[in-house]
Amino acid sequence: MAILRFKALTDLMNKKVPDMTFPSQRVSDFYGELVFNDEAMKRYLQGSVYEEIKNIIANGELINRNIADGVAAGMKAWAIDHGAVHYSHWFQPLTDGTAEKHDGFINYGPDGNIIEEFSGKHLAQQEPDASSFPSGGIRQTFEARGYTAWDVSSPAFIVGSTLCIPTIFISYNGDALDYKMPLLRALHAVDKAAVDVCQYFDKNITKVHSNLGWEQEYFLVDEGLYMARPDLMLTGRTLMGHQSPKDQQLDDHYFGSIPERVAYFMRDLEIESQRLGIPVKTRHNEVAPNQFELAPIYEECNLANDHNQLVMDLMKKLAKHHGFEVLLHEKPFAGVNGSGKHCNWSLGTDTGINLFAPGKNPKGNMLFITFLTNVMAAVHKGQDLLRSMILNATNQHRLGANEAPPAIISIFLGSQISSMLDKIAEKVSDSKMTPEEKTELKLGVGRLPEILVDNTDRNRTSPFAFTGDRFEFRAVGSSANCAGAMTALNAMLAEQLVDFKNKVDELIENGVKKDEALFQMVRNLILESAPIHFDGNGYADDWKREAAERGLTNITSVPESLSKMLTEHAKKVFVGQGILSERELEARHEVEIEKFVKKVQIESRVLGDLVLNHILPIAINYQNVLINNVKGMRDVFGGDAEQLTENERQLIRKVSEHVSVIRGKVGEMIEARKECNRIENAVDKAFAYDQRVQPFLAEIRHHVDELEFIIDNEMWPLPKYRELLFFR
Ligand code: ADP
Ligand code: MG
Repeated sequence: MAILRFKALTDLMNKKVPDMTFPSQRVSDFYGELVFNDEAMKRYLQGSVYEEIKNIIANGELINRNIADGVAAGMKAWAIDHGAVHYSHWFQPLTDGTAEKHDGFINYGPDGNIIEEFSGKHLAQQEPDASSFPSGGIRQTFEARGYTAWDVSSPAFIVGSTLCIPTIFISYNGDALDYKMPLLRALHAVDKAAVDVCQYFDKNITKVHSNLGWEQEYFLVDEGLYMARPDLMLTGRTLMGHQSPKDQQLDDHYFGSIPERVAYFMRDLEIESQRLGIPVKTRHNEVAPNQFELAPIYEECNLANDHNQLVMDLMKKLAKHHGFEVLLHEKPFAGVNGSGKHCNWSLGTDTGINLFAPGKNPKGNMLFITFLTNVMAAVHKGQDLLRSMILNATNQHRLGANEAPPAIISIFLGSQISSMLDKIAEKVSDSKMTPEEKTELKLGVGRLPEILVDNTDRNRTSPFAFTGDRFEFRAVGSSANCAGAMTALNAMLAEQLVDFKNKVDELIENGVKKDEALFQMVRNLILESAPIHFDGNGYADDWKREAAERGLTNITSVPESLSKMLTEHAKKVFVGQGILSERELEARHEVEIEKFVKKVQIESRVLGDLVLNHILPIAINYQNVLINNVKGMRDVFGGDAEQLTENERQLIRKVSEHVSVIRGKVGEMIEARKECNRIENAVDKAFAYDQRVQPFLAEIRHHVDELEFIIDNEMWPLPKYRELLFFR
């Protein structure tokens, strides 16, 4: 290993700063050049096709064959002009990451010659074999066909020599097998429900779209060291590793100057992202050594999510050009911060209003307060559902650790908003408020914007924080597809808004004035959802106690959390609004359950292998070195050696104790796995893996880490934390 370690170091010296030149143009000159965007459509679409497709995109109408053919012709010409020779439907199956199947444009022409062919048929639909994608029992083998269908709302783009068309992925029977389809349905539901509520305030509002601004955290590791860590390669995280004496204690990495080799990677990534029309804007060092963040300007949710998927893919590819591996796992290293993906979320209207931003006048503020309180109510009712979307085998190692949001869902509002809500809750009751008081309250609310600008109180310990004009959902994992969280959030809010509107309408029908009815309902929401509102320290132990008293849930077990995908509430939100059918919902639950079992199973196998054939042999070698030393000392010093070798003999004992505990526990873990594997029912199996296999991982690791601490550095077979975290 020592040799490997030195080789990695010398390699590092050689590749410190890659030999590359960046374009000297302005970003605006190459931004979006690989996207079939508005500009490209204008240039390449013939006749009325441009106007027609624009209308379809804006109004979500169905596409007829003629228009599809027209768009395909233009898209083909554009793609070929930009070097594409293949096309691919690009989709997001229920795995980690995206999928693509490339087909060449080539075909035989009428005279048997080779031509480039791409028609509306190819654009609109492709038929990948679905049998190797997770489907949770939806797809039976005799109908293994799946379909991908063009998502007109997200523009096609070129990666390498391939034209990529964003698509949804459905089964032969039309069941959703991906992340995009339910997201689109949820976005539609929230659009409709939000417009209906907006109509109380402003008749001009006819469309509401959801925005997403993601912040992607990641680690970079030198590829030479990565290759020497089978656990990183196979599971995405280190299953062992003694803490580095120095890691993040000094807070010297966060926002520090970006290491040169990393800066080159980042620039490369930014340029390629921007060419693909992804508005990446912010980059910085994160808290842990070798941890970084990338964030774009927010965009419409579906597009933003496609862009996040694309960026994760680009990161993996480009990191290799720079001799790095990118780690998107939520907790690649124990003991230092993990990686999340904050999802900044807001709703915007077609009149240019941000519904999560305090308004400029009393009417605008009531609109804001209405949406704010409905979000609170939705998250309060949906805390379990929301968690079930983001707590999984990888994110479980991050949530609840003291640098990430706890597994308790709560909302941070800040002191200004809190006191405003208190005021409303206190004052508004059936008839107590005089019209003057109401105006005063509205005007009081009207002064919010100035106050908010100064409000720098940004509680980092909250999983769901109001940050002035948006909510920031921080519990999402770095490796996740944001669609899970965004589908749930938008669907939950839609369901809540429909309920709100029904109740307001009922009051109005009973003769209550509209304004009064809205005030009363808002007040009810504030009171009902009060338990979800928490501005204090989410990392504190006190909070766990208080949250329990408030009736908030704190679920850390993945299978238990996943079971909340199937509650009556979840069904009301998803099935009731046509976002997922009951079958699709159950299938999704099954897929997640299986994913959990497989991931824990893989970790357990990798750890077992590594321990048995990497760690224990080395420990025994080292033990023999010590034993020979003691024997040699006896030869030299005779009886005096007993005292002189006291420490060595203790060390031998220590090593041998660790070795024997590790051997025993690995054996038990393998046994436990065997027993769990015999369990037929998938859910029972997941619980068994959670309770009976998973605990061994930490126990075994503890002893391995102790060995790492005492065994000769020259002999240790794996790159250490201090190397993984600091080589760059
Ligand atoms: P932070 O301090 O949390 O890192 P940033 O200013 O870097 O905040 O913004 C994080 C993300 O939030 C960015 O993607 C940004 O575009 C996005 N964002 C800003 N305003 C909104 C909004 N109204 N709706 C949704 N996302 C937003
Ligand atoms: Mg943020």
